[in-house]
Amino acid sequence: MQIISKQPNVGTTIFTVMSKLATDVGALNLAQGFPSFDCAPHLTDLVNFYMSKGHNQYAPMAGVPALREAISEKTANLYCVNYHPESEVTVVSGATEALYAAITAVVCPQDEVIIFEPAYDSYAPSVELNGGIPVYISLEPPHYQIDWNLVKEKISPKTKLIIVNTPHNPTGKLLTKSDLDQLANLVQNTNIFILSDEVYEHITFDGTPHLSVMMHPILQERAFICGSFGKTFHITGWKIGYCLAPKALSAEFRKAHQWITFSTNTPVQYALADYLKKPDFYLELPDFYQKKRDKFIDGIKDSRFSYVPAQGSFFQNLNYQAITEENDYNLAIRLTHEIGVASVPASVFYHQKNDYKILRFCFAKSDEILEKASARLSKL
Ligand code: GLN
Repeated sequence: MQIISKQPNVGTTIFTVMSKLATDVGALNLAQGFPSFDCAPHLTDLVNFYMSKGHNQYAPMAGVPALREAISEKTANLYCVNYHPESEVTVVSGATEALYAAITAVVCPQDEVIIFEPAYDSYAPSVELNGGIPVYISLEPPHYQIDWNLVKEKISPKTKLIIVNTPHNPTGKLLTKSDLDQLANLVQNTNIFILSDEVYEHITFDGTPHLSVMMHPILQERAFICGSFGKTFHITGWKIGYCLAPKALSAEFRKAHQWITFSTNTPVQYALADYLKKPDFYLELPDFYQKKRDKFIDGIKDSRFSYVPAQGSFFQNLNYQAITEENDYNLAIRLTHEIGVASVPASVFYHQKNDYKILRFCFAKSDEILEKASARLSKL
């Protein structure tokens, strides 16, 4: 048998590569984005409770109604936008599925999809598997500002979708009101959809609020908004997220979702529906993660790295130009071996592997890990 790869240029993700290497050599893993600490015991108690009560069979395709209602209520409270739980909120198995289902729902062969780079690794392959063509717009450090005139130039009659991500992985940037206004001006009176990856919606710093794409009416009517409970409740391994979109878009989204996973695990949905009733946890998240960002930054303030503090997400990029000329991939591997600190080379987030001498560090780690890692980095 011969298999002709549909993704000949795709290998193992950098997150898997770096996490395996970190485990193999016993390094501190600041590479893959997941917390080194556990979720609240109350949340696991709730899952146990619902499992022992027999909620162990298929959930409804679109999600357990109580959870859809809780998501709709949280969204209305935070962003003053109403998504009907029955027809506009869909629970899925992680934001990765939400992204894939949204792309599958709208992208036809030869459609163009605008992707800003650096970009999360699943966007382009999801577009290509659907026969779409990624149209890349490359953003440059240190400010990764979007040039909306350039976006205008890249829009063609074939443009079907624009993907945005705020707070942004890997740069930690937030989209501003002006960004949203300019995006809205470009897509108004077109048939272009927006896919907004907002998995870090609850992780923003220095008092800057997260501006959701749904807050702009021209964007909201054409947007799929993807969220993930993994980031918000320290449960990346539970793989549960959701998509918010107007009724007609949600209907197409659900057609894709039902062939990808059909439905998402039941007891976790019931548990989250209860847990979401208390907003304290996610409202305290900015403060919790800002302390971690600041601890990490404070630890490397006397080092030779340069940086712009992350505005959101749980990633801090460090520029190492003053330390070595080495390419970022080799350096990330070498530092994992030699000083026992694993990171992600930022070039992997560009399709042409642009090397700006930047490493991405995840600071969703215990204070002890952050202190050890920053002390080792400071010696370079
Ligand atoms: N989102 C996480 C990161 O950026 C990793 C997710 C994954 O491993 N696929 O590190």
